[in-house]
Amino acid sequence: MLIYDFTYDELEEFILEHGYKKFRAEQIWNWVYKQKVDSFKEMLNLPDDLIELLTSSFTFDVLELVIKNTSQDGTIKFLFDLKDSNLIETVLMNHNYGMSACVTTQVGCNIGCSFCASGVLKKKRDLTAGEIVAQIIKAEKESGVRVSSIVIMGIGEPFDNYKNFVKFVQIVNHPKGLAIGARHITVSTSGLVPKIKEFAHLGVQVNLAVSLHAPTNEIRSKLMKINDRFKVEEVVDAIKYYIHVTNRRVTIEYIMIQELNDSVETAHELAKLLKGMNVYVNLIPYNTVKEAPYERSSLERRQAFYKVLKEHKITAVLRKEQGHDINAACGQLRSQNL
Ligand code: SAH
Ligand code: SF4
Repeated sequence: MLIYDFTYDELEEFILEHGYKKFRAEQIWNWVYKQKVDSFKEMLNLPDDLIELLTSSFTFDVLELVIKNTSQDGTIKFLFDLKDSNLIETVLMNHNYGMSACVTTQVGCNIGCSFCASGVLKKKRDLTAGEIVAQIIKAEKESGVRVSSIVIMGIGEPFDNYKNFVKFVQIVNHPKGLAIGARHITVSTSGLVPKIKEFAHLGVQVNLAVSLHAPTNEIRSKLMKINDRFKVEEVVDAIKYYIHVTNRRVTIEYIMIQELNDSVETAHELAKLLKGMNVYVNLIPYNTVKEAPYERSSLERRQAFYKVLKEHKITAVLRKEQGHDINAACGQLRSQNL
C-alpha cells in the first residue's frame, strides 16, 4: 500500500486500530508531507515497533524519474515510471504567484479529442489518489521548489477517475499535510455532464475549468468525440447548474485552432452562448502536436476573436503558452513507452 494513498482520517484509523495514540498520525504526516522524507526509519520521534509496523504495511516507492527537462521559461517536465511499465508526465510551471504543478490522472485517455497528444493512447488505467499526490512530492524533491498551486490538467480525464480525484484533493488540501488551499487547485474536464453536477455538490472550493473549445455542436463534434455523448447545450446547462449551486465562477477553456474555431462569427456565437454567465474564457493558443493536422490560430485572428468577446462584455484572457520548446505545454503530454 502506498502511504500517499491514505487520507489523514484513514491513517488515524489505522494508527488507532493498532493500539497507538491518535497524535502519531499527525507526526507521521508531518514527516511525509512537511519534511518529505521517503522512509519510515527517518521518523525519529516514533517508537521502533511503530516504525516496523509502518515499514511492513506501506511503501513510498512509486515513481521513478526517467527524464527531467527544463524549458527556457523555467517550466520543468518530468517523465516518471510508475514501475508497472507505464510512464506518465508531470509539469512544474513558474508563475508570478508561485510554482504550479500540472498532474496526470490516468495512463492515456479515453475521451479521444482529435487535437490532443494525450488522447492518442487509449486509457490503460486510472491512477490512484496516492500516485497523483506522489507526482507533486517527487517533482518538488527533484527540483528543489515548493508547489503552491495545482492544475489537474495533465494526461487523462479527471472526472473519468472521479473517486480518486476527490481523494487526491482531500489529501493535498489537508492542513496537516501539503495544505494546498482548495482555491489554489483547478480541475479541468472535457465536459462529463453528470460529474460536473456531482462536483457542484462536493462542497470544496476547487476551481472548475471546462474544455469547451467551440460554441456549436458542428465544430465541437469535429474536435471532441465526447460531444456525441454530451452536446454543447448540455455542457452549458451543467455549467449553469454548477454556478447556481456553488456561486463560483467557471473557467471556459478554448484552444484556438486556425480556421476551425477562431473566426469572428464563431466569437459572436460563443459570446451569445455564454451571455450573462459567471464565466471567464481562457483563449489558449493551440500547440501543434505531430498526431494532429491542426495549426495554431494566428495572433491577429486570436486578437480579433478576443475583441468580439470584450465587446459582448465576456471576461476573457488571451493566454501565453509555457514550455512549448520541451513539449510540456497543454496537450503535448502523453504517456509513452520508451
Ligand atoms: N482531460 C481534461 C484535462 C486535461 S487536458 C480536459 O480535456 O479538460 C487540459 C487542457 O489542455 C484541456 O483544455 C485541453 O483541451 C487542452 N489541450 C489539449 N491538447 C491541446 C493542444 N494541443 N494545445 C493546447 N491545449 C490543448
Ligand atoms: Fe483526454 Fe483532455 Fe486530451 Fe481530450 S484534451 S484527449 S479529454 S486529456
